Amino acid sequence: MSDVVVKLVEKLGAEKVLQGADVKERHYHIWHMGEGLHAKAVTLPTSTEDVSTICRICTEHNQPIIVFGGLTNLVGSTETTGEEVIVSMERLNKIQEIDEVSRTMTVESGVILQHIQEAAKEKDLLFPLNFGAKGSAQIGGCISTNAGGLRVLKFGMTRALVLGVEAVLMDGRIISSMKKIIKDNSAYDLKQLFIGSEGTLGVITRAVLKLVEAPKSRNSAFLAFNDYEKLVSFMKFIDRGLAGALSGFEVIWRASYEVMTGPSAHNRPPIPHGYKYYVLVESLGADQEVDKLNLQGLIEQTILNGLAEDAVMADTESDLNWFWNIREDVKVLAEQGNVDQHFDVSAPINEMGSYVDQVEVQINELEGVHAAYPFGHLADGNIHFIVMKDHAEEPLKNRINDLVYNPLTELNGSVSAEHGIGLHKKKYLALCRSAEEIALMKTLKIAFDPAGLLNPGKVVDV
Ligand SMILES: Cc1cc2nc3c(=O)[nH]c(=O)nc-3n(C[C@H](O)[C@H](O)[C@H](O)COP(=O)(O)OP(=O)(O)OC[C@H]3O[C@@H](n4cnc5c(N)ncnc54)[C@H](O)[C@@H]3O)c2cc1C
Repeated sequence: MSDVVVKLVEKLGAEKVLQGADVKERHYHIWHMGEGLHAKAVTLPTSTEDVSTICRICTEHNQPIIVFGGLTNLVGSTETTGEEVIVSMERLNKIQEIDEVSRTMTVESGVILQHIQEAAKEKDLLFPLNFGAKGSAQIGGCISTNAGGLRVLKFGMTRALVLGVEAVLMDGRIISSMKKIIKDNSAYDLKQLFIGSEGTLGVITRAVLKLVEAPKSRNSAFLAFNDYEKLVSFMKFIDRGLAGALSGFEVIWRASYEVMTGPSAHNRPPIPHGYKYYVLVESLGADQEVDKLNLQGLIEQTILNGLAEDAVMADTESDLNWFWNIREDVKVLAEQGNVDQHFDVSAPINEMGSYVDQVEVQINELEGVHAAYPFGHLADGNIHFIVMKDHAEEPLKNRINDLVYNPLTELNGSVSAEHGIGLHKKKYLALCRSAEEIALMKTLKIAFDPAGLLNPGKVVDV
């Protein structure tokens, strides 16, 4: 047993420090459960003080650590070399308070996102953050990646939903700002630095989340388009028509839709195959019947105006679930070949149609590629690609990365809209952030973690 592990066991107790075979039984990602974790030890803190102790001991021993949340990230952020000590947040899983007047929820960082959604719902409130991995992702992971998802259009990214953060620095200091207040311009907003820093600046142990009153109505419709310009016109038309109630605007490109509603999928198609784009819209409001009629009227006008080719409204709760299950069943795309490569990029909405067309054609021409599947949060200027390939060889991987990422510099887009940089996107960061920005990021990293022990090698190298 190494000195650092001996010290951790001495201070925390053996039940909070897994070693040997117990480490191997774990994994570094939910999609690699069979692979066995390589790490010196896995620590299981049950309090902020435990986290502080772990960080302090690891600093004293110059020991790198990686924080594990729900292990759903898509950028290699929780990959290990075998030399790290893991800090797994799973036992810090309590909802400490729901304040119905302030509309806040105070949580430990290991609470699963879906549990937070359910607890808010019980009080007739809503925590709007929502995405496919909600059953596994922890709120600490969501905060550390500034997760986006399906309702950013109306409620913003995680950053907009966090009022307070408590985090532990690598030297063990606890930086706590667990305020329920919305307005606080008393100097620098330090919590924002931890949000989206992918576990490289501090370990988030608790947070105060912002809730909103639960909507009383939810309506959705699927529409089909053949023309990108018309799709964009519809986006403006529906947003204006719903006057603030539009909460989701997801676009699924034809190749993706035909798999997500094809023979190997769990869902049948609400609109037939054959159109170029499928759009799923959602409105949240105050009156189910009135809001449904309103959306229906706007959809009818869209068809009459010749903007959309076809459309169908969700009539029942089960239709709503059916429609959204199609969008959330991304896994079926990743099952269409041997190896999957994921993308999550931003570009201005006006440019997105031609950008996707170009990238789709170029990728599909490459030998070893089965298909490129685009879909995503178009109203946020953000789409995802899953590219299915025969093999994981580097030259093909790099060629695909170049085709997807290189055009983004000229478009003033981003190589990471929501998933972060982690390990996999590090070498592409300079395509969308200036040298001066990256230099300042490194200065920040050194100020927070001078020895570079927190999630080393991820996001930026120092
Ligand atoms: C099917 C699927 C769908 C997804 N859809 C979306 C989507 O629509 N939008 C989106 O934004 N993301 C999406 N993701 C990505 C992923 O779910 C998010 O990035 C999520 O926020 C990660 O949370 P996690 O708890 O799993 O974190 P992990 O994967 O465990 O960790 C992610 C990073 O955060 C760090 N970290 C974790 N917890 C803490 C903590 N308490 N303190 C400090 N650092 C910490 C880790 O070290 C790591 O760097 C999806 C993933 C999957 C598998």
